[in-house]
Amino acid sequence: MTIAVLALQGAFAEHGQVLDRLCVDHFEIRQKKDMEKPFDGLIIPGGESTVMGKLLLESELLKPVQDKILSGMPVFGTCAGLILLAKEVEGGQSHLGTMDIRVKRNAYGRQLGSFYTEQEFKGLGTIPMTFIRAPYIVDVSGSTQILAKVDGKIVAAREGNQLVTAFHPELNENLSVHQYFLDMISHSSTL
Ligand code: GLN
Repeated sequence: MTIAVLALQGAFAEHGQVLDRLCVDHFEIRQKKDMEKPFDGLIIPGGESTVMGKLLLESELLKPVQDKILSGMPVFGTCAGLILLAKEVEGGQSHLGTMDIRVKRNAYGRQLGSFYTEQEFKGLGTIPMTFIRAPYIVDVSGSTQILAKVDGKIVAAREGNQLVTAFHPELNENLSVHQYFLDMISHSSTL
């Protein structure tokens, strides 16, 4: 199995380190030609969604990434990655717009934007969650399944081949969310 990590901006290196610990092959996508290499799933990291959205457009990666997701390629978006995948964005614009979620950017305000908690994630038990100027999911529609909530706010969800977290699992020792994504890939029909 090979995972591609979108490496235009943000916390892509940390995802690579988690994949190393899970002994999974991975490479970075920085330009259009990197999309030609075969891969089984894509991680879109945290960072700044407006900057990443602009870079996706400028590098002509937006459309090919969007097409691959819509054709069923498994994708995992963390924080800004979640915002990029959302169909509706409060306080911003939609970019890839492939997932039936409405998100609120910088939803916790300046003071509470960054915090750590341990909460239940469906099927994984209680896991560490680090939030950095995080969004949350205001609403889900279609077949989107809610996987975790913190203080009543949705912070993780899945719709078919798309997995998103408002927090940063790559910043904690616990590898279970990444493992969840790898299991999603193993069970998807693309392999
Ligand atoms: N606040 C950022 C944004 O709107 C997301 C923060 C993050 O990815 N840690 O894109």
